[in-house]
Amino acid sequence: MNELSNMKSVTNVIRSRPVHWVGDGFPVRQMISPGDAPQATSPFLLLDYAGPHDFPPSNARRGVGEHPHRGFETVTLAYQGQVDHRDSAGHAGSIRPGDVQWMTAASGVVHEEFHGLDYARQGGTFEMVQLWVNLPAAHKMDEPRYQALAKETIPVVDLANSGTLRVIAGEAFGKEGPAQTFTPINLWDVTLEAGGETTLALPRHSNTLLLVRSGVLRVNDTDSVAAAELAHFEHGGTEIHLASEEGAEALLLNGQPIDEPVVSHGPFVMNSDEEIRQAIRDHENGHMGRLEPA
Ligand code: MN
Repeated sequence: MNELSNMKSVTNVIRSRPVHWVGDGFPVRQMISPGDAPQATSPFLLLDYAGPHDFPPSNARRGVGEHPHRGFETVTLAYQGQVDHRDSAGHAGSIRPGDVQWMTAASGVVHEEFHGLDYARQGGTFEMVQLWVNLPAAHKMDEPRYQALAKETIPVVDLANSGTLRVIAGEAFGKEGPAQTFTPINLWDVTLEAGGETTLALPRHSNTLLLVRSGVLRVNDTDSVAAAELAHFEHGGTEIHLASEEGAEALLLNGQPIDEPVVSHGPFVMNSDEEIRQAIRDHENGHMGRLEPA
């Protein structure tokens, strides 16, 4: 054992992904795709990083209209801009900078996601992350659930003159995040000031990913990760060291893998082909509900 044996080593850094549009509102880089290697990132099935992108003022409704999800959770983190949401389970809300929406689609919802009208009329920079978080088989057909995690409810850790860490889910530096999750997950927003550094404690035998949103992070003194890049870490080890010369912002994702088969088809992620066929039938038959006319 050497002195670095507690560090989680970086195994891979995704340096670039092409931008594609989701509807006409979300120019995203897909940093994790459901078809890639689900066990390597489990329970995280998808990570779409939208922006930063400047939209001109508009009265148009930019976004994606009614569409279904089954078998997982969608987690939307707003950094700049605003997303308005409505779903067939009767939930609606605005996701503003600093807010997180944790929607458990489970047995199925249909929803729509559009730029908020206030933001759209003003225009400006848009920056958002959407994650798909898998559910264990035992919870894929639960009733849908919705957690609107307002900015004010997310604890902020002061990193001793180095920056801040927001605990959205899990636990860091003795503070607990407000998100209720089905499997152990840590989801943290890390902001380092120029010259800042920190060491993060993470569970062994878990999947860990780091999306840098701005600036450059020096990771474990071995790898540099820049904006719109995603670092993957090994399962072993219990610590990650981060430092930044010029300052940086990043999203840390960590979770206990769900060791079950993953079959994904568009907006449905289940455990078998038959369950996917059932999801398609249930959606076609309206069993995931309908949106009220706007
Ligand atoms: Mn959606």
